[in-house]
Amino acid sequence: MKLYNTLTRKVEEFIPNEEGKVRMYTCGPTVYHFAHIGNLRSYICEDVLEKSLRYAGYDVKRVMNITDVGHLSSDADTGEDKMVAGAKREHKTIMEIAEFYTKCFFDDCEKLNIKRPDVVEPATNCIPEFIHMVEVLLEKGYAYRAGENVYFDTSKLDEYFVFGNQNEEEQLLGARDDVTEDPNKKNRNDFVLWFTKSKFEDQALKWDSPWGEGYPGWHIECSCISMKHLGEYMDIHCGGVDNMFPHHTNEIAQSEAYLGHKWCNYWFHVHHLNDRNGKMSKSKGDILTVSTLEEKGYDPLAYRFFCLQSHYRKPLEFTFELLDNAGNAYDKLKKRTLQLLSAEGDADQAVFDEYKARFLDALGNDINTSMAITVLYDVLKADTNDATKLALVRSFEEVLSLGLLDAPEEAEKSEEDEALAAYVEEQIALRKAAKKEKNFAEADRIREELLAKGIQIRDTREGTVWEKI
Ligand code: AMP
Ligand code: ZN
Repeated sequence: MKLYNTLTRKVEEFIPNEEGKVRMYTCGPTVYHFAHIGNLRSYICEDVLEKSLRYAGYDVKRVMNITDVGHLSSDADTGEDKMVAGAKREHKTIMEIAEFYTKCFFDDCEKLNIKRPDVVEPATNCIPEFIHMVEVLLEKGYAYRAGENVYFDTSKLDEYFVFGNQNEEEQLLGARDDVTEDPNKKNRNDFVLWFTKSKFEDQALKWDSPWGEGYPGWHIECSCISMKHLGEYMDIHCGGVDNMFPHHTNEIAQSEAYLGHKWCNYWFHVHHLNDRNGKMSKSKGDILTVSTLEEKGYDPLAYRFFCLQSHYRKPLEFTFELLDNAGNAYDKLKKRTLQLLSAEGDADQAVFDEYKARFLDALGNDINTSMAITVLYDVLKADTNDATKLALVRSFEEVLSLGLLDAPEEAEKSEEDEALAAYVEEQIALRKAAKKEKNFAEADRIREELLAKGIQIRDTREGTVWEKI
């Protein structure tokens, strides 16, 4: 497989540390609010990456954290803890907020057919690991104490901006919200490993540490949680592009300082979903969620299809018109694939292998999902039997996960409802005609027959109405 590696800024052959095995890490959500469909674009693309690796034959272990402490309103360690702000907003405890939004996140993932990672670990589970890493960094001289916080000293590194090309403006991206200079820092890019002195005296979550009661910085979470479950060498680390700096840059700085060797070889970054105001962002407040899409009548999987039509390394513009187009194409595609479910006979192995290879090629070409979808359309047009097409769609679905072969229960139910409504209306019309002819016995018989079927009718001034009982 070939993947674009943000670290080398090249498309490269993906070679994991151990043959056939992939150790993969994903930055999880900060659970102070619903995930918006921009966040979920990242998780959809990462899901496709994981499934593509599995499809290509790798044994993947994927780990994700849940950020339930330490992520301040600016990624550069200033501002209020997002979890504390969320708890205040909703008059709940931080743990209630974390539990509620973690559940909402996974419910949304389920609706989008995003597989749950093998390991999901909330940051608040790993306080001893964070403290240990900070202790080692202090011992090795990579960290210092100032103003009662512990900071990472970026001047101790040969190279801090490992993702390169970061100009002054880009460096400030992480500090975009409310930049306040921290006078304790020796160097501008130093970051907090452990807070004890914070300007938020009401910080509810605090733990004992060798430096006093406090809480961890956000970046250290991902370094520790990934090492806890994946060991000292990781193959691929993912997140949205906004995580490159400072979050991933800091993760690399502290992990490699702690380990004394290279930590992760490949970095996979998903570009943003933008709306007309620019990057969709939780802090802007006006966000679209999976529930909003459902309320407006969209199938969440139509949104997944919308995301897969474009490449993860390009910003994606969101408008309802574009989603409508994707939704229409998705409905047509699904109608076509569902017809294959009645296919009989055997699949043609040679044709199957040929298209599967083309599909793998598309994925192996830096996860080219729109190309993979083109291969799917080519299968549907191909000169082969339906059994082969069905086998191929089923196989491609291991990665695309568009629900293309899931019978639409809801739609069937509503067709049933429509048929019932048509029948009842017909009986009401017949009863009305019977009454007009003064055939009351027939009118009563119709009423009784409907009642026996669980339908109650009532004559009102506006006409006859009915309900299921
Ligand atoms: P957060 O919950 O804010 O920590 O973000 C969760 C994930 O969503 C991270 O990987 C972010 O980089 C990513 N993300 C945030 N905003 C967007 C966006 N507008 N489009 C795509 N990914 C995003
Ligand atoms: Zn992270």
